[in-house]
Amino acid sequence: MSNVHAIRGARTILVDAGGKGDLPRLEAALAAARLSWPDIAAVVVTHGHSDHTGLAAEIRRRSGARILFGRGDVAMAQAGRNDELQPTNFVATLLKQFAIDPVYEGFQADQVIDGVTRLEAWGIAGQVRPLPGHTPGSLVVELDDGRSFVGDMVLGGFLGGAWMPQRAGEHYFHADRLRNLDNIRTLLRGPARVFYLGHGGPVTRESVAEAFGTGETTPAAPAR
Ligand SMILES: [Zn+2]
Repeated sequence: MSNVHAIRGARTILVDAGGKGDLPRLEAALAAARLSWPDIAAVVVTHGHSDHTGLAAEIRRRSGARILFGRGDVAMAQAGRNDELQPTNFVATLLKQFAIDPVYEGFQADQVIDGVTRLEAWGIAGQVRPLPGHTPGSLVVELDDGRSFVGDMVLGGFLGGAWMPQRAGEHYFHADRLRNLDNIRTLLRGPARVFYLGHGGPVTRESVAEAFGTGETTPAAPAR
């Protein structure tokens, strides 16, 4: 249902934890990458929605990894439940009503992120940065080489990333849609060149710029 990315430095960290039904696929993917649970030193969960948090507690039990999580979503993770989703289009309204299970195993973060946090402790040249918008506690992971892991800030393709996954577009839900758009522009003004997403992707900087516009004064029409 959603992507889990592994970043391999001196230690390995995961970005996002998948949904609660994803454990067999995640285990298979780790094995294919020659990783086992004890290799995972940290999990950066980009935000508190069930399809990204579902296995966070389970991954920690199996691996001993630390969970890094944004301040603004701490209450969501403690409750183990999505807050009220704000649909951005009609399909999203249907998804919200019929397709999304909002409940997951709640957890306490080991490290609550409320400012830029470098990843050198894990031998990774990059940082975690809070960018509230999709949710109040949304995080991005930015590697110094321009690869950025942005969770649900951008959606790849259609049907949850199943069709045309490398076309950037607007996600189904945002707590604060305009602030999310602002975050995209902030990243486009920086060195980000490839965006790794929660669904579909990766997408290029050019694809994101085309979908959302880069003008700082002109309000861009989000892609649908
Ligand atoms: Zn989300």
